[in-house]
Amino acid sequence: ALRRPYRGRFAPSPTGLLHAGSLVAALASWLDARAHGGVWLVRIEDVDTPRCVAGADTAILQQLARCGLQPDEPVLWQSHRGHAYQAALERLAQAGWAYPCACTRADIEAAWAARGVVRQRHAVLPYPGTCRPERGGLGGRPARAWRLHVERVVADLGLPVPLQWTDRRLGPQAQDVQAVVGDFVLKRADGLWAYQLAVVVDDAAQGITDIVRGADLADNTPRQIVLQRALGVPTPRYLHTALVLGPHGEKLSKQNGAQPLALDDPVAALRAAASVLGLPDAPAAVDVPAALQHWTQAWRARWVPP
Ligand code: GLU
Repeated sequence: ALRRPYRGRFAPSPTGLLHAGSLVAALASWLDARAHGGVWLVRIEDVDTPRCVAGADTAILQQLARCGLQPDEPVLWQSHRGHAYQAALERLAQAGWAYPCACTRADIEAAWAARGVVRQRHAVLPYPGTCRPERGGLGGRPARAWRLHVERVVADLGLPVPLQWTDRRLGPQAQDVQAVVGDFVLKRADGLWAYQLAVVVDDAAQGITDIVRGADLADNTPRQIVLQRALGVPTPRYLHTALVLGPHGEKLSKQNGAQPLALDDPVAALRAAASVLGLPDAPAAVDVPAALQHWTQAWRARWVPP
């Protein structure tokens, strides 16, 4: 098959400044785009408005610019994309693949408890399907969220169970989406668009061919592939990078106190990110463009087949 021209992206949530972990995803996606002679975009994923910090979007763009990572096209803000998410939800609902749900978290736990299933600490139970239309729908309760009817999508489109895909770094992957996450949320009870729907709609609208992001997002991929199939849009290639780990081996994140990147020395910040990506160190005393060029060559040798 003819390959579409390479388009990649970095999609930060403006819940704070970039930290050492998010720079790894930014650098890896930029290097992969450059190594393929492709286009690199930045998309501000500000759908989860209560978690967004005012001004973090412009600060992130400045941090990226300090590191020589400049988007090739205008930045897209997800907060401006509600009409596109609404249109996608309506298409899914018309196909019988999305339905409104009235359940609270407590309702979901109670439905499982009635079947003798108790939630383990930190575990997330798949949605038990209480509000599925074939089970009587909302039953007079007010709609809260919208969910994807995973079982129907899988059956109607004849998707394999488990769903299988190949990650460029992690290799062959498989997940039974129905069993592991169930009918996941497309529009939240608080009226906000869910990450899964927004990311799939925007990756398709922006013609993204290659997604390079941190391995913490790897297990979202099968949900996103199911949605891509349901919406009839292409599935990009995926590469999930290594993560920066905190002192106790946990993923570094704003939630567990990762410090914002100090950009008085962008080459030092980039060196740390490149080392997480397993790239050879750049020579001493290089500037940002020379360092990036060094790693682009190393990335191409490692990840781009001749
Ligand atoms: N906005 C997401 C995050 O900051 C990343 C989305 C993605 O790369 O698919 O974690």
